[in-house]
Amino acid sequence: MRHSKRASGSKAAPVTPKRMSIETGMMGNGHRRQLLEIVQAFQQFSRDTSEEEVVATFLKSAISMAKASRVRLIRNDGGNILVECEARRSQNNAIVVSHGRRPVESEGLFRNVFNSASLTYMPVFLGSTSFVQAQAWANPQTDTIDSPMLCVPVLLNEESKEILCLDTRSDTAPLDSTLVDHLTLLSAQAVMKRENLRLRARIALENRKIEEVEVALCANKRELAHMQRMSQTGSWRWRAATDTLEASSEFLRIYEISRERSIPSGKLINLTHPDDLPLVRIALVKAIAARRVFKLEFRIIVGFGEIKYVQVEGHPQTNDTEDLQYIGVTVDVTERRNAENALQAARAELARAHRLSTMGEMAASIVHEVYQPLTGIITNAEACLRWLSKSPAETARARDSARRVARDARRAADVFRGLRAVASNSGITKVPVDLDDAIREVAFLLQGELDRANIRLRLETAVAKPVLGDRTQIQQVLENLIRNSMDALLPVVGMQKSLFVNSASHDPAFAMVTVQDNGCGFGKHSAETLFDALFTTKPNGMGMGLKVCRSIVEAHGGLLQAERRERETVFRFTLPYIDGTSVNDIQN
Ligand code: ADP
Repeated sequence: MRHSKRASGSKAAPVTPKRMSIETGMMGNGHRRQLLEIVQAFQQFSRDTSEEEVVATFLKSAISMAKASRVRLIRNDGGNILVECEARRSQNNAIVVSHGRRPVESEGLFRNVFNSASLTYMPVFLGSTSFVQAQAWANPQTDTIDSPMLCVPVLLNEESKEILCLDTRSDTAPLDSTLVDHLTLLSAQAVMKRENLRLRARIALENRKIEEVEVALCANKRELAHMQRMSQTGSWRWRAATDTLEASSEFLRIYEISRERSIPSGKLINLTHPDDLPLVRIALVKAIAARRVFKLEFRIIVGFGEIKYVQVEGHPQTNDTEDLQYIGVTVDVTERRNAENALQAARAELARAHRLSTMGEMAASIVHEVYQPLTGIITNAEACLRWLSKSPAETARARDSARRVARDARRAADVFRGLRAVASNSGITKVPVDLDDAIREVAFLLQGELDRANIRLRLETAVAKPVLGDRTQIQQVLENLIRNSMDALLPVVGMQKSLFVNSASHDPAFAMVTVQDNGCGFGKHSAETLFDALFTTKPNGMGMGLKVCRSIVEAHGGLLQAERRERETVFRFTLPYIDGTSVNDIQN
């Protein structure tokens, strides 16, 4: 065996127990004392709660049993030979234990001891000369074998090996086999206790881990339940074998049924709305037969007759007929459905209101357009009566009035016809129209009113070609624009009230008519607002005139626009020419 440098002077050599000085015979006081030490050690082991305490008890008992000067617990930790713990006697013979790993000296020697102990599982005895032993006494800090040394294997397990090394004193009794047996017994008990503590620590650790997992699991469960509640989504598992469902608490809440381990599917079928039940049944039977995913939406009737809408999605879990299962989710979509239904109802209501308002607009425009001819009819009929009631009756004048009545009545009829065409979008009867002539006729009709209102009309007509359209409707537009100008000129004082009506070619395809006045204008309102239905600034206005005019012009393929210049208000509309038709062609 090789020795460390420090131990090279010694004559130490491993000795098997057979070569040890063995004391035989009846049990003496020494042995009894050793047994007493063992019993006390066992008692202390049972009180020790940490491995460190057990090791300390073990070393203290060993040092006092063997009356050794020093005891070391040396371990082979993956090839590194280390002192795990050491007990030594102090000057006043007290036993001092020091923990904490440190490398052993004479490492080569102890490696050999470890090899020998692993092979034989037997104690090893190392002897020394008295000279070196004296040196060891003088310097007890070193790991030497300067005194006879007994090494008892303490095998924790294959990976972790330890030996108990006792440095004996020359003044003590020689080592005997009973001491070896007692030390072996003590170390076995210490090993057991240490193993026991380790196991307990491991179990405590495992328990802690299990506890943590359980806590996390509980938290997950709570979180899942919370999320299911928030999303109103219940989960379930259906087992074909028992035809029952295991369901989450949110599912039970949706169906308003009390908690039970498994719910017979018949119970849920009973809660399905009778109108939806046939379709639900067919869909489920088909999906289950084909082991397919199913997605359904239907109504259920819960509690005291409350109707809920649910969306259900199920996924098959196995292909095995015997053990068919479906897992899935049931979402309460009642709020969403109710909101959609409300939206639909609101839309229908809106459409109805729109229809009503269109009808109102139509009625208003009819009144507006027919009002003027009717007023004319009344005025002329009254005039006619007046002429006839004179004595003698002024028949010629009465006839003129009667003719005007007939003319206004025709105009009213034309207005109805035109409005019907606009309202039904059926299109208008377009014929070539001599625009200038139509404008002159309107001007002639209104001349009297213009004179009375003190408005000077300037008329410029310069359209050489006929336009395509409905003469009455075109005149209606013009009359409306002129009457609006007359209204705008009403408040004007201190200057000449002027109205300018002009027709000209806008471009080769369109003629353009302009109606311009120096009236009050339309203030802060935008030009486009004037064309809105029911927009009016007049106390008795209806706000339909411009809207109807624009519809008529657009129905002719033209445009009607308004513009406010510095001092003038200008309305312009275009009408398409009919090419190749001369003015003469359209004179009736
Ligand atoms: P109503 O004449 O019944 O008010 P209209 O649709 O014909 O309905 O006109 C809408 C509004 O446009 C008028 O109330 C008026 O405010 C404005 N408007 C129309 N023509 C003129 C104009 N020549 N000058 C200033 N404002 C006008």
